[in-house]
Amino acid sequence: MAAAPIISLPQGLAGVRKCILWPVGASFSNASFPLRRRSLSLRAAVSTSVPSSSAPVEVSKSSFKHCFTTGADGFLYCEGVRVEDVMEAVEKRPFYLYSKAQITRNVEAYKEALEGLNSIIGYAIKANNNLKILEHLRKLGCGAVLVSGNELRLALHAGFDPTKCIFNGNGKLLEDLVLAAEAGVFVNVDSEFDLENIVTAARLAGKKVRVLLRINPDVDPQVHPYVATGNKNSKFGIRNEKLQWFLDAVKSQPDELQLVGVHCHLGSTITKVDIFRDAAVLMVNFIDQIREQGFTIEYLNIGGGLGIDYHHTGAVLPTPMDLINTVRELVVSRDVRLIIEPGRSLIANTCCFVNRVTGVKTNGTKNFIVIDGSMSELIRPSLYGAYQHIELVSPPPPEAEVSTFDVVGPVCESADFLGKDRELPTPAKGAGLVVHDAGAYCMSMASTYNLKMRPPEYWVDAGSVVKIRHGETFEDHIKLFEDL
Ligand SMILES: *Cc1c(COP(=O)(O)O)cnc(C)c1O
Repeated sequence: MAAAPIISLPQGLAGVRKCILWPVGASFSNASFPLRRRSLSLRAAVSTSVPSSSAPVEVSKSSFKHCFTTGADGFLYCEGVRVEDVMEAVEKRPFYLYSKAQITRNVEAYKEALEGLNSIIGYAIKANNNLKILEHLRKLGCGAVLVSGNELRLALHAGFDPTKCIFNGNGKLLEDLVLAAEAGVFVNVDSEFDLENIVTAARLAGKKVRVLLRINPDVDPQVHPYVATGNKNSKFGIRNEKLQWFLDAVKSQPDELQLVGVHCHLGSTITKVDIFRDAAVLMVNFIDQIREQGFTIEYLNIGGGLGIDYHHTGAVLPTPMDLINTVRELVVSRDVRLIIEPGRSLIANTCCFVNRVTGVKTNGTKNFIVIDGSMSELIRPSLYGAYQHIELVSPPPPEAEVSTFDVVGPVCESADFLGKDRELPTPAKGAGLVVHDAGAYCMSMASTYNLKMRPPEYWVDAGSVVKIRHGETFEDHIKLFEDL
């Protein structure tokens, strides 16, 4: 399918292309940004045959810059495209805007870190399951980490190599395990009943399943309790004192199971990499013990969980290189293939959730900016009290007063906020406001609460704005009741 233009006037795009990685604070003249007040080139969701998605994207390893930057003119840009111009060009409702080049750069950072190691980058699909993004990640060489049968179906649909896919979860259903066995993906063993189901699935599929034991290393990742998964009272994984039981169980099913590795996943939003090393030390000791019993262990899977700089305060956070360097020697010493399962650190910082200000109000001592987006489209602040940086997309009028605001949506819940106590210039009605770092666990957690339909998604690809997911409509909702 050829790219279908919705609004097409790709004037001066060559000029925009050059502005990838525009340094913060560099001066923006109108001449450099001919898109200003002109239509953007906007393509509909495109097929996998679009040449630009397979063409190499410029990557600057030395000078990492965030893909959303404020120009000296005070406007917010995504890879050289003014976010306000995108708002003018697309549907008039909240939307997600990604930088395709940033996704590429994030994968490159992991690849660079993994140089010299035999490894698999398994992207955790639950962080963001946009099909176009998945296809891009697959083309960049990633595998996929799955937690449901539908995520497995989607990964296969996106063309992921099943031998680079890992099926995880504490409650995997038998029917989904059968699918996993048929597809030939790795399966993590999470519990006694899970092992039983995997054996049954192997028999039903007529295939031997390659399994990893998910061992709960009991380390504290020092993160929000909802996203800590590797401590001893977690619902995930098996406790090491039960290891022998599992090894015996696997040994007794030689036609159904092949034990190929061990897995752990400590949690998410982790900002100290030494706990990955602590966990890896424990895991290689398990590998030694398991190998002593005659198993051929080929894989060490250390999970995902690397955090990102949500606060935008210039703090220095560990990079993929820092993470891999803490475990590199251990991996080499045991001659295993390293599997990592990043979700957030591949996709979170590639995206802004773009809203319009509906109005500003004051109640008692509180000031509120009410926007059209809400907890329905982006629930992390409500769910975890998560901080995501918020800013306006255009310079405020000179008379605008700076105040402290709660940024809230229209949904009928007091938990419906995107940010609390944010110091911002008082925005005009209709002004653009973005919630940063919205690429992971935002759209994939979106609901239709209050019948706020799930928003469309776009990415900036080489200076063009391309739709990569349709927004859901009221008609889509009514269809669920057809013929009933
Ligand atoms: C959620 C999850 C991941 C990804 O975590 P991030 O924090 O997004 O990197 C990886 N592995 C498993 C088993 C998970 O459950």
